[in-house]
Amino acid sequence: MKTSLEDTLLSAIRTIPDYPKPGILFRDITTLLGNARAFRRAVDELVHPYAGTKIDKIAGIEARGFILGGAIAHQLSAGFIPIRKKGKLPHETVRVAYSLEYGVDEMEMHKDAVTEGEKVILVDDLIATGGTAEGATRLLRQMGADIVAACFVIDLPDLGGRRKLEAMGVEVRTLIG
Ligand code: AMP
Repeated sequence: MKTSLEDTLLSAIRTIPDYPKPGILFRDITTLLGNARAFRRAVDELVHPYAGTKIDKIAGIEARGFILGGAIAHQLSAGFIPIRKKGKLPHETVRVAYSLEYGVDEMEMHKDAVTEGEKVILVDDLIATGGTAEGATRLLRQMGADIVAACFVIDLPDLGGRRKLEAMGVEVRTLIG
């Protein structure tokens, strides 16, 4: 019998209670990344709707979005844009503040990473409150990107991130949740 996508992926993800702080159920995708079948399946499923579509760049959010985003960029023959925590990129950047569960932080991308009108897919491992993806969306749009979709392996729907992005006019695609 063929295992469903959600079962395959869920069984490959490890859940760690109370990490990084009490009350958080941390979805650890390192076990999925280490499982060749599950990793391929996740990437194939995220890529599938865009095969044959012209996508210029994949923007990955540090750090797990780099791993998934790099694989997706390769599959779609697209370039890759790293969106990083502040102070990590060497050239001229644009910066945005974004909200975390407690407090705010800042993320950056290189000013010349995207040009006006380029078609971009945003990638991260998980969407929770959507604060991180919202910040990345604002950065990319500030530089003129046309965001085709935002893709995540896991959605934590109770935290409202998907609705937040959809309210910004971003198509959201998730595999579990
Ligand atoms: P948010 O901005 O609230 O949507 O949080 C999404 C970002 O935080 C992503 O980069 C996730 O990797 C990380 N994250 C938030 N909650 C979790 C969780 N329960 N397990 C693993 N990663 C998480």
